[in-house]
Amino acid sequence: MSEHTHSAHDPNCIFCKIVAKQIPSKAVYEDEHVYAFHDINPWAPVHFLLIPKAHIPSMAHIGSEHGALMGHMMALVPKLALQEGCNPYPEGGYRLVTNTGVEGGQEVHHLHFHVMGGPRPWLRG
Ligand code: AMP
Ligand code: ZN
Repeated sequence: MSEHTHSAHDPNCIFCKIVAKQIPSKAVYEDEHVYAFHDINPWAPVHFLLIPKAHIPSMAHIGSEHGALMGHMMALVPKLALQEGCNPYPEGGYRLVTNTGVEGGQEVHHLHFHVMGGPRPWLRG
């Protein structure tokens, strides 16, 4: 994870404002590179978002230079899912979703992984 991945912040981006604590959020996890927080409009009993602190607009912008960051984020998913109350695999589990682009249903253009779990039924998904 190179230094320059920290420098890009879009002043008009809602998730950059959340990272900067200019907009409040309910934290799940934070370190130097990533932030996880509860989705404001949850679909499932557990629904949080895991985002890079750097403003990367979408999965369409990910390349091999992001390997360390992506590996870090993917390794956090199982740990944070259990921490937040998802039940253990295989009876429990969760959905890991990344909407990409308009046709992919992406509304906030700052890369985020949805982690959704907990007992069904869910509102959506
Ligand atoms: P997507 O459609 O994948 O871009 O999802 C964006 C997600 O961000 C939605 O599930 C929203 O509920 C969530 N969201 C939008 N604004 C906030 C906010 N201020 N705090 C927490 N979650 C938010
Ligand atoms: Zn952003």
